[in-house]
Amino acid sequence: MKLYTNCQSCKKDIVIKSSAQTRPDLQMEKGEELTVNCLNCGKVEKKHVNDIKAKSNSFILLLGLVIGTIMTSILWFFYGAIASIVFAIPLVFWQQQMKATKSFNSYMIRRK
Ligand SMILES: [Zn+2]
Repeated sequence: MKLYTNCQSCKKDIVIKSSAQTRPDLQMEKGEELTVNCLNCGKVEKKHVNDIKAKSNSFILLLGLVIGTIMTSILWFFYGAIASIVFAIPLVFWQQQMKATKSFNSYMIRRK
């Protein structure tokens, strides 16, 4: 899962460096207002924790899918249809990512 917000002047994504899985976690870690620095135009902005959005990390998901496919085809050769269980692993991981992303985005901190 990747956390990001949009730059107000150039609309580009600003990635937030945090391992927080939920919005309250992010608030605990960074406080209610985050100071972000746009790498594209250099603008420094203050963002409320509610302005941070999450999206699933598609690179990791793709990697999981590729590894899952390779593993399945190798194991299929030795074990047959039972190898398809291995293919379910990246799918479970993907589902878990989607769930985490959705719950992050739907949970808002009460603004003071
Ligand atoms: Zn910018």
